[in-house]
Amino acid sequence: MSKMTEKHKYTEADGRTVPLDHVRNIGVMAHIDAGKTTLTERFLFYTGVNYKVGEVHEGTATMDWMEQEQERGITITSAATTCLWKNHRINIIDTPGHVDFTAEVERSLRVLDGAVGVFCAVSGVQSQSETVWRQAKKYSVPVVAFVNKMDRVGANFLKTVQDIRDKLSVTVVPIQLPIGAEEHFKGVIDLISQKALIWNNEEMTSEVEVTDIPSEFVDSANQARDYIVECLAETDEEIMELFLEDQPITDENLRIAIRKGVIANEIVPAACGTAFKNKGVQPILDIINDYLPSPLDVWEIQGSDPKTDEPIKRHVGDEQPFAGLVFKIMTDPYVGKLAFFRIYSGTANQGMSVLNTRTNEKSRFGRLLQMHANSREERDEIFSGDIAAAVGLKNVTTGDTITDPKNPIVLENITFPEPVVSIAVEPKTQQDRDKLFEAISSLAEEDPTFQVKTDSDTGQTIISGMGELHLEIIKDRLHREFKVQANTGEPQVAFRETIKRASDADTKFVKQSGGRGQYGHVVLDMTPCKEGHGLTIENKVTGGNIPKEYIKHVEAGIKDAATTGSLGGYPVVDLHINILDGSYHAVDSSELAFKMAGSMAFKDATKKAGMKFLEPIMALEIVTPEEYMGDVIGDVSSRRGQILEMETQDNVTTVKTNTPLSEMFGYTTALRSITKGRATSSMEPSHFGGMPKSIEKEILENKNKDK
Ligand code: GDP
Repeated sequence: MSKMTEKHKYTEADGRTVPLDHVRNIGVMAHIDAGKTTLTERFLFYTGVNYKVGEVHEGTATMDWMEQEQERGITITSAATTCLWKNHRINIIDTPGHVDFTAEVERSLRVLDGAVGVFCAVSGVQSQSETVWRQAKKYSVPVVAFVNKMDRVGANFLKTVQDIRDKLSVTVVPIQLPIGAEEHFKGVIDLISQKALIWNNEEMTSEVEVTDIPSEFVDSANQARDYIVECLAETDEEIMELFLEDQPITDENLRIAIRKGVIANEIVPAACGTAFKNKGVQPILDIINDYLPSPLDVWEIQGSDPKTDEPIKRHVGDEQPFAGLVFKIMTDPYVGKLAFFRIYSGTANQGMSVLNTRTNEKSRFGRLLQMHANSREERDEIFSGDIAAAVGLKNVTTGDTITDPKNPIVLENITFPEPVVSIAVEPKTQQDRDKLFEAISSLAEEDPTFQVKTDSDTGQTIISGMGELHLEIIKDRLHREFKVQANTGEPQVAFRETIKRASDADTKFVKQSGGRGQYGHVVLDMTPCKEGHGLTIENKVTGGNIPKEYIKHVEAGIKDAATTGSLGGYPVVDLHINILDGSYHAVDSSELAFKMAGSMAFKDATKKAGMKFLEPIMALEIVTPEEYMGDVIGDVSSRRGQILEMETQDNVTTVKTNTPLSEMFGYTTALRSITKGRATSSMEPSHFGGMPKSIEKEILENKNKDK
């Protein structure tokens, strides 16, 4: 059956106020400081949700509602916010900009249908925009680009567009041209309607004045419009025909073709403005409505059968069986635990029973809430394609599929990177210890990139996360929200360990002290593998020397032992293990005995192999005025950083490096003082790599000192 005829079967529920093709689930993604928060704030103002706009630098922005975010002036949590613009419901998922929170970005991208990419008209594409962009590509999220900060000195729209084209390898098509730049930036030319949109002052309430294109811009506007047609002729047959036959191409022709190109991820239309000075914001809302997909455009939803794992498909529709994906858990001081979810098919009602396919448990929706930045609206039902928060779901966590128990489906799960930094937390009193336990499990539920373990040597509670800032926030929240009094250690890098050379072991675990004994015997070998391999185990036992039912216990023993390496207690990775042989005893062998034997064999073999540390290496990028370049590079080298690439343009140098995370603590402060605050930097985890012997020695010494 073709897509179109299937869509004819689509029916909408009676209670719906906004038709599904008028729903937009979007994210705003950007490098930190590009203006994402400011732009989102303006969206909320112009859509009428928010009449008193808080400026980011005053720390009152509505989206940044968590206290810590306000103090730090950055957005961390993906709050989902709803607003209405020209009969369209726009759900904005606030994607975090800081690299420590890439998992949050991934999480929110999974449930978006489209995104606005915000770029700074002065600094262009920065490394983090590249990261976010790659993530958007992974989930095939259609994007429109907004070049912000046109009022700043050095702002250049077309140069930024070229930068996006070069660095992100996408077909970027300007659909606007700026009128003026820097302090003379007045507004934009809409190349589709061929009108000039002018804002006569910088007030939020400034009306848009629509005029004909000023004569001095007519030529460039014509050229730019021709370029749009040329680009579209490559992706759109209808435009190509009109173009080849020299037929007139209407605004509507262009709009339809742009929309198709955007949804097919073939083109990225680019617009410009200044969110801060309130120019060019309303057109972006129009662009969202015109070009970004509705849930109907993302018609087919792939999933699998929870019992058989067979792939199954669903499609959007209020009358379809219910299926939703939980993408965020938040603890709200007033209503308790909120599960943010996107409805892929069907309708959610208060009191409805849903199955969690991970736990195989049923629970009921309590209240259903549609979230605005700082208020919430209770709804009886939430329809297909929408985003909302549910109260009352039991045992639910990020990434869970909730579904109609009669028609279960598992929607694709979300993958998260491994934590790279950890700190020890030491509760002050026994009471704090109890509270800490509760708080940590609640936080871990909200945030899958945050992990907890107990150090087997010291008995300390160790929490790990994606970066220094990530852990700072968690520390803050423990203290403020959960009122836990605790001392914390210095942030530690989460190392890995690996074997130096191939090795083997032939290990027996035997206990015979009257009564029933224990007997397990395992022979294995291990070989080093390349970086990023992880740990793999293969069973090569023949003739039932180790009975089949015990093999998985041998594996469990190996995996258990591999969580704490012999060198520093870090997970052991990048090796392959073959279980070769063994023997068993008819009476004394047991699951536990083989688990112990597996674990001991692993330890014996790694001891023989010799161990070394692997450390997390970060891709660190610095953008600095050229005059500080020497000092910046000197500093990076002293941190064992490796310079990969350097480029200077208009007196601004971009330096790309690979630098060990362990040398990065306090880096932003150091960079600020070296460059008088004029450089910016960003980093993301690259890989786990080897380290010099001297440093390894130092780490071991420090570790022993701690004990
Ligand atoms: P985010 O980190 O991407 O959310 O960026 P913010 O919205 O917090 O903005 C970062 C800084 O840039 C803030 O100080 C804003 O006031 C400022 N800013 C945002 N938009 C503009 C703009 O259009 N022009 C200028 N000059 N500054 C802006």
